[in-house]
Amino acid sequence: MGDAGERRRQVIAGIASAAKLGQRDPANITVIAISKGRPIEAIAPLLDAGQRDFGENRVQEALAKWPPLLASHSDVRLHAIGRLQSNKAAQAVQLFDVIHSLDRPSLLKVLSKEAVKAGRFPAAYVQVNIGEEEQKGGCAIADVGDLVQRVRASPLLLAGLMGIPPLGLEPAPYFALLAKLARRHGVTGLSMGMSSDYRAAVMLGATTVRVGSALFED
Ligand SMILES: *Cc1c(COP(=O)(O)O)cnc(C)c1O
Repeated sequence: MGDAGERRRQVIAGIASAAKLGQRDPANITVIAISKGRPIEAIAPLLDAGQRDFGENRVQEALAKWPPLLASHSDVRLHAIGRLQSNKAAQAVQLFDVIHSLDRPSLLKVLSKEAVKAGRFPAAYVQVNIGEEEQKGGCAIADVGDLVQRVRASPLLLAGLMGIPPLGLEPAPYFALLAKLARRHGVTGLSMGMSSDYRAAVMLGATTVRVGSALFED
């Protein structure tokens, strides 16, 4: 299965060199291990290697895998990265520390309600449809300001903006666009960059990268 610790060291080194090139402090960049579709046996070696931020895209799968792991690693932070249905909001609030896919006022409303009910207040990234793609998650670029304002007025903490560049296109211009939107709206956190492009994302200001295959596959 290869060495998860070695793969993690390589990703961290990749982040450090990109940060240096981009004149940034690597201490300001968090790597989330995206463990969707990965079994507990693949997650455990990364936990052993010191990885503490993990991301899942389906609430049911996360509920099936994480409670026992969280019981033995109470310092793990779990991130929700997939499209989130409002009827999963109660479970999401219970399980996740950070939600990267807040893309509409109706979802914010139900998350806020469930957060107050549970006394648990996850941080939220406003997901932006930076490629203005028809079927992609994320709010329209024109709606970012409104949604950011709404999160600021809500019981949830505003973590920043999140975006996924269109598949098959050069990602850097889209990272630059997301960074520009963040500056425009006075937002500091930027969740952008995956296995194939996290170095470019770091050079362009990512504070959080979401890395799956580079951590789980040789
Ligand atoms: C799957 C996924 C990732 C990780 O993708 P890799 O290419 O495996 O690094 C990151 N972000 C989101 C939103 C994802 O769905």
